[in-house]
Amino acid sequence: MKSVDIVGFKSFAEKTHLEFEPGMTAIVGPNGCGKSNVSDAIRWVLGESRARALRGATMEDCIFNGTDSHKPLGMAEVTLTLADCDETLEIGLNEVSITRRVFRTGESDYFINKKACRRKDIQRLFMDTGVGTNSYSVLEQGKIDQILSSRPDDRRAVFEEASGITKYKADKKEALRKLEQTEANLLRLADVIREVK
Ligand code: ATP
Repeated sequence: MKSVDIVGFKSFAEKTHLEFEPGMTAIVGPNGCGKSNVSDAIRWVLGESRARALRGATMEDCIFNGTDSHKPLGMAEVTLTLADCDETLEIGLNEVSITRRVFRTGESDYFINKKACRRKDIQRLFMDTGVGTNSYSVLEQGKIDQILSSRPDDRRAVFEEASGITKYKADKKEALRKLEQTEANLLRLADVIREVK
């Protein structure tokens, strides 16, 4: 992770640029200053869609909602820039930036290197890399307890991501769904043929 740019997300009303220098391992600051909002921003740009996982009730809670000195904003935007990723990400580029933007209307946009894309594209890009919404690179509060006490199947998902088979499992699920759809179509076709005969 090289840097993150945040504007309008949670407590970040002003445009904020955070550079992750090599060796940086922690963010410190007084209670309530926005440390967890930084990790929320990172999970959000990676495609997190559960408002509760971001400690809110709805996605609108992610947009800066005003303070005594600042009016609420209508849009939140986060850009995450990753460096040295030509070997890990199958994109053929050394530096990749991903952006997510959301408006109060609920409209949401995603970009990879400033090119519009779908949420699915971002999730797929990071699958099996250890980075991603459901991976282990950003652990929100309580996540470690959750991993330790969760069902064996849920714990297994952490190992599957680390060993790089998540993508294949997702592909298998998609292929099985298509197969089921095709079987249903074939059945319908057989009915039509029988009727015509
Ligand atoms: P702690 O050390 O207590 O865990 P923290 O540094 O992790 O605190 P955060 O939880 O990241 O702090 O930030 C909390 C602050 O963010 C609160 O002051 C809260 O009012 C503010 N905040 C959260 N959502 C919004 C929003 N949508 N608009 C404005 N401020 C927000």
